[in-house]
Amino acid sequence: MVATSADIKDAAGGADWLDLFLADWRAGSGQAIEYREPATGILLGKFQHSTAADVEQACARAAAAQPAWAETSYQERAAILSSAAEIYERHRPEFGTWTQRETGAVHNKMHHEQNFTYQEILNAATLPSQSHGSLMPSAQKDRLSMVRRVPVGVVGAITPWNSPSVLGMRVVAPALALGNAVVLKPDPQTPVSGGALFAAVFREAGLPEGLLQIVLGGADAGEALVTDSNVALVSFTGSTAAGRRVGQLAGGLLKRAVLELGGNNAFVVLDDADLAAAASAGAFASFQFQGQVCFAVGRHIVQRSVADEYVKMLAEKARRLRLGDPYREQVELGPIVNAKQLARVDDIVRRSLDGGARLVEGGTHEGLFYRPTVLADVTTNLPAWTDEIFGPVAPVVTFGSDDEAVALANSSEYGLAGAVYSRSISRGLAIANRIRAGMVHVNDQTINDEAIIPFGGFGLSGNGGRFGGQANLETFTEWQWLTVRDEPKSFPHPY
Ligand code: NAD
Repeated sequence: MVATSADIKDAAGGADWLDLFLADWRAGSGQAIEYREPATGILLGKFQHSTAADVEQACARAAAAQPAWAETSYQERAAILSSAAEIYERHRPEFGTWTQRETGAVHNKMHHEQNFTYQEILNAATLPSQSHGSLMPSAQKDRLSMVRRVPVGVVGAITPWNSPSVLGMRVVAPALALGNAVVLKPDPQTPVSGGALFAAVFREAGLPEGLLQIVLGGADAGEALVTDSNVALVSFTGSTAAGRRVGQLAGGLLKRAVLELGGNNAFVVLDDADLAAAASAGAFASFQFQGQVCFAVGRHIVQRSVADEYVKMLAEKARRLRLGDPYREQVELGPIVNAKQLARVDDIVRRSLDGGARLVEGGTHEGLFYRPTVLADVTTNLPAWTDEIFGPVAPVVTFGSDDEAVALANSSEYGLAGAVYSRSISRGLAIANRIRAGMVHVNDQTINDEAIIPFGGFGLSGNGGRFGGQANLETFTEWQWLTVRDEPKSFPHPY
């Protein structure tokens, strides 16, 4: 990676710590690729991507380092994680700068991501000291029988660009804490906030050599990581399309893959809801970070008698939001991450309008800046309803009965998050109980996370793997049955 340019120094806010780290960052040996800040087009850096051979070497280094790490005491691993949390906090300004410039996040989104990232490390620091098994009764006399969780070995982690630090940290921190090594491949659009900074933090925290390897690149590097024979577990966060491919590759090798994928999340507003609160939550969850959030609200399902009022409130909120460079200006929305994604968002909006949806607000863009958009009269055959948009678009569908609301909420193949607004807790809960999603909220919006809850989704949103708290133990370790006899056992003649 070539990372000592003035641009990068500027992006690092002149921070010696990060500059020093980036200056001796080991490059991949593949093609050098420039990447730019989405908000301005300013060159951020030039990275040599990792070749398949680089990935293989990184996995071999990780595999060589892992057994000794698994044998370290729980105190030693917890101490390194605690130290990493402190270092992360101390260097928040540099982290924030890179996150904002690489992803186009507004300050508030970046700040929340940093809080969650810090919490992920703190929570991981508690994992080494938890019970990792139990003593079992045994049918055989004089035998000690126990079941315990053991590290998987090397975890191959593939992460997307949209929340690079938290989505990386929720894998790296617990996996390391539980005695594994990690090879992390961030998205090529976030090589620093999704990759280099992890290496810098854990190096300063004293993590032994080899245990955390960062490889850079796109699908080729990702597939090399998934199929590497040293990688025992694949943790993939990203689109359902790429996740399907990763799942197929891992399945062919009989390798476990934890897939955290896309969403098209339902937000149900009942006629007895606090409409102002619902509209503010709905607007936040569709427009925050330009809608580029896996658990953003993608479908507003609103009871017919309050729908006009709700749509009006949503449109007023959308109109007030300011767009611009989130790193240098006071704005609520930044750019869409790249031209390809912008064209996709616009295409979904255009085809939905052609299909009969009504444009209430937005629907225009300047460069990569897409106006927050409200679509009414949406029908369930339109792409704004069926597809994960990953842009600042709020499609509204109306319903009559509560049964109809549930059927609409469950009519997506995704099942990541859902929410219901109602002043009646029992009515809200009755609907929440019937929503098929991994995370459901009553009187709150869908962009909700805590490091101790088992984050994940149903259907096309994932394959059942979970991150967070106790779920980390299941995800990053395997069961092992261990028995011990005091007297060596022999078997009857003729054996
Ligand atoms: P993406 O699938 O294009 O890329 C994600 C990562 O996968 C990147 O590192 C990319 O280089 C890599 N990749 C792409 N093709 C690959 C392949 N064939 N083999 C191995 N690796 C490959 O996703 P994106 O556009 O960067 O991110 C947005 C998507 O991620 C959305 O669908 C969003 O909902 C989803 N997401 C899900 C969660 C979750 O926890 N469920 C969180 C954030 C984002």
